[in-house]
Amino acid sequence: MMPEDQFFDSHCHIDFSEFDGNREVLLQQALNSGINKMLVPGITLEQSKHLLGSQLAKLKLPQLYYAIGLHPYFLSEHQTDHIEALEQLYILNRDKVVAIGECGIDSSISDIEKQKQIFIAHIHLANKYQLSLIVHHRQSHHLIAQAFKQNQPKFGGVIHAFSGSLQQAKTYIKMGFKIGVGGVITYQRAKKTRNTISQLPLKSLLLETDAPSMPISGMQGEINTPIALITIFEQLASLRDENKDEIAKQLYKNSLSTFNLN
Ligand SMILES: [Zn+2]
Repeated sequence: MMPEDQFFDSHCHIDFSEFDGNREVLLQQALNSGINKMLVPGITLEQSKHLLGSQLAKLKLPQLYYAIGLHPYFLSEHQTDHIEALEQLYILNRDKVVAIGECGIDSSISDIEKQKQIFIAHIHLANKYQLSLIVHHRQSHHLIAQAFKQNQPKFGGVIHAFSGSLQQAKTYIKMGFKIGVGGVITYQRAKKTRNTISQLPLKSLLLETDAPSMPISGMQGEINTPIALITIFEQLASLRDENKDEIAKQLYKNSLSTFNLN
């Protein structure tokens, strides 16, 4: 890692209560490690509202960007009028919101039909306001591909915490998506995903931690933090042929372009 390298954690829940008490220290540590940008996703309407009205947002930290959305994990909380409310929230906070999500389809959550409807509504919202999408998947590549075929996202986004085959990744890339590279690649047993990530064009990758979830290898059971981004980067570099500096620069550029930042 070169001292001047810059990193973007494209998916990090720094608003979660796990970080109450040490949030500011962590943000400073991240800055000291070169992680000078982070995107904080939305998971429910309430949390999305809170995110934009929170102390965090009021601090106007130049390194923080936000997305708003309804995560499939919280399906039971989502109501039909929440999408409309998200749209209003976006209109009032255009300066802070750079993407729609996280949203998606998760096969471990029942009521796939309701998930599909909500997911498609997110795609329409993103298209309407020229925003990228942050897409959650779990054993649902086929369902997401189906939704994308019928409701094509026009401004791309990221397939968050990607795991899957080269073919699946390439399908998303063709549709304008980036592949989110997280802690999963630090596990030797994640052979398929490590192999996929090693073969994809560097231009199609984004780094992310999903903190406080998805601890990296060796840290199981601990609260994951944005600092893990550096380990994920090192691991990614070991899987790639390009030199580290080139990888760091390209990944940073990829994040900026995905979220329309300069
Ligand atoms: Zn997440």
